[in-house]
Amino acid sequence: MTPAIELTRLRKQYGRRTAVDSLDLRIEPGTVFGLIGPNGAGKTTTLRMILDIIRPTAGAIRVLGEDPRRGGPALRRRIGFIPGELRLDGRVTGRRMLDFYATVSGPVAAGAIDGLAERLDLDLSRPVHALSKGNKQKLGIVQAFMHEPPLLVLDEPTSGLDPLVQREFLRLVTDARDRGQTVLLSSHVLSEIQQTADTVAVLSQGKVVAEGDVASLRLGAIRRVRVGIAASSAEEIGAQLGALPHVSELDVRGAADVVRVSATVEGDIDPLVKVLARHRVIDLAIEEPDLEESVLKLYGEPSRPEAGERDA
Ligand code: ATP
Repeated sequence: MTPAIELTRLRKQYGRRTAVDSLDLRIEPGTVFGLIGPNGAGKTTTLRMILDIIRPTAGAIRVLGEDPRRGGPALRRRIGFIPGELRLDGRVTGRRMLDFYATVSGPVAAGAIDGLAERLDLDLSRPVHALSKGNKQKLGIVQAFMHEPPLLVLDEPTSGLDPLVQREFLRLVTDARDRGQTVLLSSHVLSEIQQTADTVAVLSQGKVVAEGDVASLRLGAIRRVRVGIAASSAEEIGAQLGALPHVSELDVRGAADVVRVSATVEGDIDPLVKVLARHRVIDLAIEEPDLEESVLKLYGEPSRPEAGERDA
């Protein structure tokens, strides 16, 4: 089957800086593909080349079987795009703006705009310039999805959205996939990619450092754990946790009658839970570390401390 997107040795150079470096990617139709990476990894540059907003220094791009440099408006209409930095302004209402976009993008099914606005809790009667950042982002989402294009290219689409709307947005993505649309989604937030993407590529410094299905990448394998334990000895807890494999960056402090623990766990969390269960746990938070940290830990940057190192 023709891939929805195929990038071959794609490169973008800004002066001496290589923003995208010999990138090879193949995105199968009807799938959600997540492009993740820390700030400056080259995600936006890659997506802009796919849309032919900027041109590559070298390499080849095929989008829906065509060369985006030659596809023109006909190809553009088959792509729904949310740019990373969405700037919307104007005195017109959201509805008028979307009606205008509909004349450009091609037919929009009756009720599609209202249905999307309702799901995202967006008021279409307000002038665009008066909308908050999050509401402008919702307008951008409706604009990209309303004509059900075969391909959606979404650059950091959830920025500015509150968690409930983010969740609804991720449902829109999986609904689109279930209808057979292809979605390319960039993010520096691991959890939203993990929830939706079938395949993930991790970009770092313009290169793919890992690619595969979400589970096999083990990206969720690193977690930061913060625990409050009532009336125990900090030394005892420190010794018990320090003896566990996969626990690093352990910090144990006793204050008043609470011992506060923070640690990074890579891999199986069960041994840590079993140790904690010997004590009275009064609060517990398991957080996702920032993406940069997990990418660098898992896919290596030798100058950074290794996961096995302990600082306690
Ligand atoms: P972010 O999440 O911060 O947007 P990103 O992964 O989208 O990051 P890009 O915006 O693609 O990263 O940037 C990749 C690299 O290319 C960065 O080092 C950036 O400084 C550089 N870069 C991007 N656009 C330009 C430009 N127009 N001129 C010079 N350098 C640029």
